Amino acid sequence: MSRVVKQDLGFDWGVGQLAKLNWRHEFVREGYRVFFSGQPFAMHCHHYNINLQKTLEDTLGDEGIQLIIRSAEESSFNNFRNLADQLGYLKTVKSKLEIAASMYLNYGLGIIHLQEIDLGGGRIISPSSHHVTGWMAKHGRRKTPGCHFTRGWIAGVLAVIFDKPVGHYQLQETHCKMVGDPECVFLVSQK
Ligand SMILES: [Zn+2]
Repeated sequence: MSRVVKQDLGFDWGVGQLAKLNWRHEFVREGYRVFFSGQPFAMHCHHYNINLQKTLEDTLGDEGIQLIIRSAEESSFNNFRNLADQLGYLKTVKSKLEIAASMYLNYGLGIIHLQEIDLGGGRIISPSSHHVTGWMAKHGRRKTPGCHFTRGWIAGVLAVIFDKPVGHYQLQETHCKMVGDPECVFLVSQK
């Protein structure tokens, strides 16, 4: 996998960093619960996430969208901060961005390019997303961008990487595969 990822993305993508993880310690199961770096989590399920998003959008509108973003942001912030605290070798912003993208990939969420990001924000491109594929299969094309979970997830990890509080960054999705664009594009700015 690493060879393909490096070839496709032209980026180390955190594969070397991930290899240093003590997976027996970081990734454990206790009965029906699964933990990563001490944090309990649910495995990604696009059926669940898509139905949750549709319900929140249909019933609460923009308030529901903000709820998805904030929930994903707080969750990824706590998870990534805990991981970064434990992994002392993650010294540079570049290594942290690489492992964040690698985590997104290994969680089964998709591919995100984080090369154009710095403290002030920047641009992120996602050419492939499990959530997009699932939404298109279930509901078809949307009129508006729909990657709200990804907006929150990325905002949370960027806050950790640049040593900012949760809620510091916001992402606007300017292009989305769910509306027919070739890629999802996110603009990152400071609130
Ligand atoms: Zn999208």
